[in-house]
Amino acid sequence: MAKIADLLATGPTFSFEFFPPKTDAAQLSLLETITQLEPLQPSFVSITYGAGGSTRERTRELVAWVRRDTSITPMAHLTCIGHTKLEIDEIISMYLEKGVDNILALGGDPSTDSDQTSPSDFTYAKDLVEHLRTNATLSIGVAAHPEVHPRSPDRRSDRQHLAAKLRIADFAITQFFFEVDHYVQLVEELADLGVHTPIIPGVMPVTNKSQIQRMSQMSGAAFPPWLADRLADADDPEEVQRIGIDVATQLCAQLLEVGAPGLHFYTLNRSTSTRQIYENLGLRNA
Ligand code: FAD
Repeated sequence: MAKIADLLATGPTFSFEFFPPKTDAAQLSLLETITQLEPLQPSFVSITYGAGGSTRERTRELVAWVRRDTSITPMAHLTCIGHTKLEIDEIISMYLEKGVDNILALGGDPSTDSDQTSPSDFTYAKDLVEHLRTNATLSIGVAAHPEVHPRSPDRRSDRQHLAAKLRIADFAITQFFFEVDHYVQLVEELADLGVHTPIIPGVMPVTNKSQIQRMSQMSGAAFPPWLADRLADADDPEEVQRIGIDVATQLCAQLLEVGAPGLHFYTLNRSTSTRQIYENLGLRNA
């Protein structure tokens, strides 16, 4: 199966992110969403990994299903939280057996239902990347935060730790943001540190006003006043979605114009916005 590092070398990648649902019914609905997005021929899809135990098995099942039953390349998220080296090795062996060799190596955020007392052999995502690097067959991505990770004490240390991680990873995917300048600045700051690893911008189309404000706050992404103004009078969910599609389409076009090596869509397990943005941008078989 294609390695993301190789795909990036041939041109921009277009990818979608999903999270593992908690119920069987939601799992079925997600399989339908992924099937609906398959004709867009994404470069890859990625499946998030819960910091707690409850959905971790579903992540593995979903990644294996995408690999086995669709034509799409899957990428499995993996976190430091609550994992020993031995457990990570077992998970990687299982993925490799199933033909999955793309991994997004993350620090992870403890979730409310997580077993936070589980021991971990890894403190930072870079430690996990270093460990995974001992397996030459893997293509390894990491997370980047254009507006600085919420736990970083300052911008300088954030960029230095990110640069150290990117020197040993194959690519990064960013947290979502709403202004192209955040992305441009991130790429420039890393270049100043001598790092030119591909950084794929993450794009979150707005579909729900209160949800996007909450998620922005949690992830450290500024929610710009111009976007709040545009959404202020939109009470109908369809109108909110239409604005979200419009805003995301413009951001994606700007990102491609400044040379982003791809676009990664946070789908929230729905396909409508992503399909419409694809069509607006004239990408592939929308
Ligand atoms: P790290 O790279 O470890 O960084 C975390 C903090 O530690 C930063 O402030 C960094 O500057 C600092 N730091 C790094 N190294 C050092 C050091 N040596 N000394 C001191 N400080 C240091 N979370 C999940 O739980 N599951 C997912 O599936 C998931 N998917 C994600 C996908 C994307 C694309 C992104 C952007 C985020 C995702 N997250 C996910 C969230 C992510 O796990 C959190 O943002 C987490 O808090 C940090 O992850 P990281 O990989 O950036 O961590």
